[in-house]
Amino acid sequence: MLPASPFRGFRDLSGGEQKASDGPSGRVVDIHVHFDEKNPNHIEDFLRVSDSLNLTALMLTPFSNRKVVAEAAKKYPKQIIPFGFVDLDATDVVKQVEELHGLGYRGLGELEFVKKPYNDPSYFPVYELANRYGWVVLFHTGIVLREKFDEPENVASGRMRPIHLEEIARRFPKITVLGAHCGNPEYEWAAEIARWNSNVFFDLSGSTLTKMHGRLADFKRIFWWSGQPQDSRTPDDDTSAFVKLVFGSDTDLKNIAGVMRQYHALFEACDVPERTRKMIMGGTLSKLLGLPG
Ligand SMILES: [Zn+2]
Repeated sequence: MLPASPFRGFRDLSGGEQKASDGPSGRVVDIHVHFDEKNPNHIEDFLRVSDSLNLTALMLTPFSNRKVVAEAAKKYPKQIIPFGFVDLDATDVVKQVEELHGLGYRGLGELEFVKKPYNDPSYFPVYELANRYGWVVLFHTGIVLREKFDEPENVASGRMRPIHLEEIARRFPKITVLGAHCGNPEYEWAAEIARWNSNVFFDLSGSTLTKMHGRLADFKRIFWWSGQPQDSRTPDDDTSAFVKLVFGSDTDLKNIAGVMRQYHALFEACDVPERTRKMIMGGTLSKLLGLPG
């Protein structure tokens, strides 16, 4: 649900050939692809990008588009993993979530624009269901776009702080909690919560990798505990702190490759080990979701 941003797209560091990463199947897994309701050819367009980048998407799907994406996911299980974008404040949200489960959805997201903080007990029935299903749930965290400038808008980043995800991860331990945007700009809170909670990961989509492109090594100070005794289990018992990141693009289809290159620039700047890069770019989510090879 982010608009096209002037910060999207980036310099090609790899010469165009993507060898980004590898889940068990060698595929990149992008946790942050919004289904574009305005593009009637979104699925076809996505499949082309998927082919060229060897990419699987968690397709974040507005409830009203749930059927078309459920069908597409059945037809293209290697390319499309259906995720349901619901409004946590909708009066029938629990029913919506049950229906999504029945349609074969694998999780929820991107949850955002909430009227109350994410850890408000009124949202617990949704989290209880997600916990029962063992789902992955993607939450927007940090600064959020403003849609209206001439009329009041009931949207506030403070309700979507990464700190709220800690309580959800602990109360509902079978949910894998994904935080989009690494809490921008509360990276330290995001990282520390991920450090202590095995079921929490963050993506670095949005403006962060553009904002930080001249000082990407700063992330070594935020994800500081590589090689230290681990405070929670990590995928493959990886001891790099960066294993708490996962790849998410949150951009137009044509700019996904650019975000992949931004991630690789971060890996270089922070000396992220090869095996950890593979976990970030697809390995962690492939395992969690049992994706087809
Ligand atoms: Zn977001």
